[in-house]
Amino acid sequence: MITVFSGGTGTPKLLQGLKEIIDPANLTIVVNTLENDYFSGVYVSADIDTVLYTMSDLINDELWYGVKGDTFITHERLEEIGCPELLRIGDIDRATKIQKTQLMKKYGLSKACEIQSKNMGIASRIIPMSEENSDIKIFTDIGELEFHDFLIKHQSQPEVLDIKFSDVNPTDGIIDAIKNSQAVIIGPSNPITSISPILSLEGVREALKDTHVIAVSPIIGSDSVSGPASKFMKALGIDVSSVGVASLYEDFLDTIVIDNKDEDKKVLVNQIINKVIVTNTIMNNLDAKKNLAKIIIDDIP
Ligand code: GDP
Repeated sequence: MITVFSGGTGTPKLLQGLKEIIDPANLTIVVNTLENDYFSGVYVSADIDTVLYTMSDLINDELWYGVKGDTFITHERLEEIGCPELLRIGDIDRATKIQKTQLMKKYGLSKACEIQSKNMGIASRIIPMSEENSDIKIFTDIGELEFHDFLIKHQSQPEVLDIKFSDVNPTDGIIDAIKNSQAVIIGPSNPITSISPILSLEGVREALKDTHVIAVSPIIGSDSVSGPASKFMKALGIDVSSVGVASLYEDFLDTIVIDNKDEDKKVLVNQIINKVIVTNTIMNNLDAKKNLAKIIIDDIP
C-alpha cells in the first residue's frame, strides 16, 4: 500500500500518472478538507471532489475543478433570479455535491466519500483528513478574509500577512494507513493550505518518522507553478523555494524531488534532506505525469 497526501491541483496531476503505473487498489489518498464549507446549500469539499473526479477520469483538468464538459444551467439561472453564487458549480458537479451533503448527514463525510468513490468505480481508498470543518482565515492588507473570498472574490490579489486555521481531529484510519504503507508520497500541493493541515493532525508527523516519505516540491525557482502557495509561504516567513519546502518537511522526509530548473539548489536542499532527486516536475502531459510517478515509485525501498 502507498499513501498519498493531496490537495486539489498539483497532487491530482501526479495521481493521474500514479494510477497508470501502479494498481490504484494499492493507493490510499488522504485529502485536505481545510477549505470545506457550505455554498448554495450544498457541502463543497473541493479537493475531495477533485480527487474523486481525477480517479474516475471525470475531472476538468484545465481548471482542476469540477467535471469536464459540465453545463452551468443552474448556476446561470441562479444569477438571473438574483441569487448569484460565489463558486461556479456545474450541473453534474452539483449532483455529486447534493448527494454528498445528503450522505454526510446520514453517515458522516468519510463514509459519504467511500460510497461515492465506490459508485464512481474507484479502486483506491480516499480518506478526507477530518470529519470536522476547519475554520481558515487569511489576514491581508485589506483585512481578515475567508479563504474562498480571498481566492475567488479577491482572486488571491491582496497581500497576505498571516494565515490561521483551527485544529481538527484526524479521521479514523489515517495513522494506521501511514503505518501500514510502504511509503507516503507528499504530492506537489500547497504546503501551507493543503499539506500543512494534514501534517498538523495529531499523530501524523510522528507516524511519518517511521515511514519512507517522498515529497515533490510545488515550488520551482522562486514561485509556485500555480495558485497562491508562494504568497502564503512568504507571509509565514518561509523561503519561497524548494529549500523552503524542504525545511517544512525536514523532521520526517527521506527524499525530495525538485525540478531541473532548481539544480543549483540541490546542495542546499541536500543539507536539509538526505536524498534529493532532480528531474522534470512540470506535469503538463500524461507522459510527464507517468515519468514523475515512476521516479517516485522507484525510490521506494
Ligand atoms: P489547491 O488545493 O487547488 O490549492 O491545490 P494543491 O494544493 O493540490 O496544489 C497547488 C500547488 O500545486 C501549487 O503550489 C502549485 O505550485 C503546485 N503545482 C501545480 N501543478 C504542478 C506541477 O505540474 N508541478 C509541480 N511541481 N507543482 C505543481
